[in-house]
Amino acid sequence: MSIDKTAIREEFELIRWIQQQAGHGDHLSLGIGDDCSIQPQLAGQDLLTSTDLLIEGIHFRREWTSLFDLGRKSAAVNISDIAAMGGRPQSLFLGIGRPKQINDSEIEAFISGFLTETRLHGAALAGGDSCASPGPLMISVTVQGGVATGEAVCRHGASYGDAIYVSGSLGDSALALKLLHNGQHPDEALAKRFHTPSPRVALGEELAQRQLATAMLDISDGLLADLGHILAASDVGADIDLAKLPLSESFRSALDEDRRLIDLALAGGEDYELVFTSPVKELAGQIDPEHTVTQIGVVGQEPGLRIRRTNGEFYQCQRSGFDHFV
Ligand code: ADP
Ligand code: MG
Repeated sequence: MSIDKTAIREEFELIRWIQQQAGHGDHLSLGIGDDCSIQPQLAGQDLLTSTDLLIEGIHFRREWTSLFDLGRKSAAVNISDIAAMGGRPQSLFLGIGRPKQINDSEIEAFISGFLTETRLHGAALAGGDSCASPGPLMISVTVQGGVATGEAVCRHGASYGDAIYVSGSLGDSALALKLLHNGQHPDEALAKRFHTPSPRVALGEELAQRQLATAMLDISDGLLADLGHILAASDVGADIDLAKLPLSESFRSALDEDRRLIDLALAGGEDYELVFTSPVKELAGQIDPEHTVTQIGVVGQEPGLRIRRTNGEFYQCQRSGFDHFV
């Protein structure tokens, strides 16, 4: 702990403010304020835990996003990992490395956004850590969730003949990012998909509870990369129909101008949609009509991922998924 008295006061004041704002979730017997939070364990439940790091300059740029939206997104992308296992999010833990340039009202906006998204999914902020950063803004989020014992949907369960589905639409977030990079303004629908993605918690939960998915992942690095993880873990291949990719109206109109943009739907990333395999055909008619799912292909025996055009020719995507170390 620092010996600079004013810094200590500020940290404790911030934490007290966070504690007041966060309240505490019904599933916790002790929330923020002690060395640990306490969550009684439920019989018949598995505990899911996942962590993500978000670093300024790599995962986000402050000039493109408000701190409120950044707070929402930081919670959303973690909650999306719980959705991808078919679980329900419960507790989030938030580590903040804060550079001097970020003032109190900005940090409060960030926390407010984080809490807004967390509450939207019935979860609670249960703890964290706060310290100064000599460099960029750094955010570390850990999320915990629950799923019925043994019902979590992993990436290794796909088998030959399963249908491949994705939720929502693909490429919107990557298109918004591309436009921002070019100094252009994405329309409202695209901007929303980039700044405040919606983790598909209810869909993931329904698929797990009804045992409809054999393998599942959320799309953070792009469809091809993330579906590729399912195929590798399951030791199978896949055939995808290019024409079946679900695209939004905004994305389609951009695509009409430039056909190469289709690669953003295949490999753009940050969709935070679910990609999953299922032995059930015509799944869309059999689940809650609130959830949009589209079959984009089938699991094949031959290893590899093949994308076909309507004329039967193979399509070669010119873009690979996002990889931080490349
Ligand atoms: P410690 O010295 O044990 O790390 P802290 O003073 O850092 O304790 O934190 C006190 C309490 O405030 C703990 O319950 C901790 O989980 C919580 N806390 C600290 N920072 C944050 C944060 N950024 N978000 C949520 N809770 C936090
Ligand atoms: Mg601490």
